[in-house]
Amino acid sequence: MRERAVTGKVATIGVDVGGTSISGGLVRDDGEVLATVETPTHVAGVGTALKTLLAVVHDVYAQARAQGWTVDGIGVGLPGPVDVDKGMMSAAAPQNHVPEFHGVPVAEQIQALTELPTFVDNDVNALALGERAFGLGRGAASLAVLAIGTEVGGAFVAGDVLVRGACGFGGELGHVPVNFDGPRCQCGGRGCLGAYLGGRQLAADARQRVRDGASSTLVERAAGDIDAITSSMVFAAAAAGDPLAAGLVDQGCEALAATLAIIVNGLDPELIVITGGVAESLVPLHADLVRRAAAYAFSHPLGSTRIEITPSDKRDTVRGGAALVAYERARRAGSR
Ligand SMILES: [Zn+2]
Repeated sequence: MRERAVTGKVATIGVDVGGTSISGGLVRDDGEVLATVETPTHVAGVGTALKTLLAVVHDVYAQARAQGWTVDGIGVGLPGPVDVDKGMMSAAAPQNHVPEFHGVPVAEQIQALTELPTFVDNDVNALALGERAFGLGRGAASLAVLAIGTEVGGAFVAGDVLVRGACGFGGELGHVPVNFDGPRCQCGGRGCLGAYLGGRQLAADARQRVRDGASSTLVERAAGDIDAITSSMVFAAAAAGDPLAAGLVDQGCEALAATLAIIVNGLDPELIVITGGVAESLVPLHADLVRRAAAYAFSHPLGSTRIEITPSDKRDTVRGGAALVAYERARRAGSR
């Protein structure tokens, strides 16, 4: 790839690809996000995510140039395991949440469009690099990120190195089993955190129990439409004393506490960041989660691990894409 001479105002394009929407932004070297574009992933129909991605990149790049910025690279977070060196997703569905990206050389396509150095990685890996460069993980040599949104993703940085693993599956903390007798998970395993606590799973479990005849205030919260029950309704109903919702939140929190213990005992990081769309509902449960984790984790490392629960913000994932560019430049230059 061609590296350009960079002068004047310099910024990086960060992009987050989700199953629902694609966000892109121009990120300054201090992490400030200057311009953002967000488009539904399949705005042009089924199978059109690449077209949307290229359009988002094109829009952000055009805005950057119009404002006099020199863009030094593009970093993209993709929803599933990624082969970073090949610049594409490394797994088919269900781990790949935008199935049409399987086998598509995403980095190469963006480079062909923009002539800018482009790097891709798993979205939560990019998020962890963003937290380390600009966010809660500044100054931390080791951190774990659990992104609990529609699904559960994870990432881990140790000794200032992102742990990608041999096949790009490193850090999939949401799919480490926490209950060997637990329910099937969408990943194909059994008893993972993701079998209890992704937003989609929690809502699906609540809907199923109501359909099976359990009585719950969730039906009123969803105005009588069982399909409209969401995970945030389940948390709100649990806090208000609804027994069905409280039971689901209880087992979700227990699974999350066991996952925290796996992270603390297995990796002993300085910091654990819990983020994603479900994080807002978990903020009031912070002390309860730490208390539950104490039943599973060594007390000394648990006590010294900073555990932060922070609601997700699209700007964090866009920053993550930008942080990926700096990280990959340094890694490929041989310093990592
Ligand atoms: Zn799983």
